[in-house]
Amino acid sequence: HATTKPPPEPSPLRNAKFFQANMRILITGGAGFIGSHLVDKLMENEKNEVIVVDNYFTGSKDNLRQWIGHPRFELIRHDVTEPLLIEVDQIYHLACPASPIFYKYNPVKTIKTNVIGTLNMLGLAKRVGARILLTSTSEVYGDPLVHPQNESYWGNVNPIGVRSCYDEGKRVAETLMFDYHRQHGIEIRIARIFNTYGPRMNIDDGRVVSNFIAQAIRDEPLTVQLPGTQTRSFCYVSDMVDGLIRLMEGDNTGPINIGNPGEFTMLELAETVKELIHPEVKIITVENTPDDPRQRKPDITKAKELLGWEPKIKLREGLPLMEEDFRKRLGIPKKV
Ligand code: NAD
Ligand code: UDP
Ligand code: UDP
Repeated sequence: HATTKPPPEPSPLRNAKFFQANMRILITGGAGFIGSHLVDKLMENEKNEVIVVDNYFTGSKDNLRQWIGHPRFELIRHDVTEPLLIEVDQIYHLACPASPIFYKYNPVKTIKTNVIGTLNMLGLAKRVGARILLTSTSEVYGDPLVHPQNESYWGNVNPIGVRSCYDEGKRVAETLMFDYHRQHGIEIRIARIFNTYGPRMNIDDGRVVSNFIAQAIRDEPLTVQLPGTQTRSFCYVSDMVDGLIRLMEGDNTGPINIGNPGEFTMLELAETVKELIHPEVKIITVENTPDDPRQRKPDITKAKELLGWEPKIKLREGLPLMEEDFRKRLGIPKKV
């Protein structure tokens, strides 16, 4: 007579770490603006376990409240300038204040975060064999003499100015990434992020899009810093997150520019916010801060060719999405 084989005993090792098919992803700075949107996107994939490390300097638990308590999610209060011992497969290294007001508030801390923080995350990547992505910045191009900026441009950066803790800090962070790659074979990815905007930006962090939207909603004058003809190119946060994930998953170290090539003067931006949010609001001009770059626009040829990525959301589509979020947080509904 036929014997049926009993089903195999479940292995006691089945739930052990080394049998897990899950991808363990660390996001430093994951309680911040871009980081929390990245968490949302990565959590959509059931194979991902997400660990956020943040010191809450500019980020907040509130940005992650929908994930707190989720079995695939972990939140750790930790400062990246201190060593971190955990086991992960991928590291998205975002920890660093991004708004000039915050990064200038304690410049020594900013440079420590960029240099020692990145060194620690590279040491971690080396120990566990993880792939690491750094969110660098268009600020590495400084006040650029090449327009639009492509990745082969070396930049025009003041090494001793008030922005240098951030600009030069990120430049050293890029250097560390490439040295760990060449010397230790670490798998690296470098994104040069251009100005990004969207829901969850700090309302009072002084960046231009958040300032103008909050001002328009509060019926305060929009403060255009002189001369007002300086330009920026604004990328909506969902496009940014999509670009970062493609870069991490692809085969190119970068650096690769991720940003929206639509370029606007600050006066044009003010006019657009006025038209969309509050047609009667005043626009005034105010003093600027030192070393403000006069123009900035990404050349995204590399991102298109190597990542098949380009932004989808235009400024006029993104601003109303951000307005909705700001109105909720400020408790000022739109008049109908
Ligand atoms: P953010 O300030 O909202 O987020 C940064 C996060 O890092 C915060 O949650 C903060 O608490 C955390 N952090 C700061 N220092 C830390 C430390 N020492 N240890 C642990 N956590 C720390 O900024 P963001 O706009 O989300 O920017 C994220 C990253 O993208 C940054 O690296 C920034 O330099 C880069 N970037 C952003 C822009 C932009 O327009 N938003 C442009 C270029 C580059
Ligand atoms: N590091 C860390 N987590 C790790 C491994 C290293 O935070 O899992 C830190 C470590 O404390 C050191 C830095 O990363 O300050 C660089 O480490 P690496 O091993 O490259 O250099 P070394 O320790 O030899 O200076
Ligand atoms: N800016 C402005 N009004 C504000 C805040 C900023 O006109 O209330 C200008 C600022 O002078 C700069 C541009 O907007 O030219 C972008 O500044 P932001 O601080 O947002 O970013 P970054 O300088 O890092 O690109």
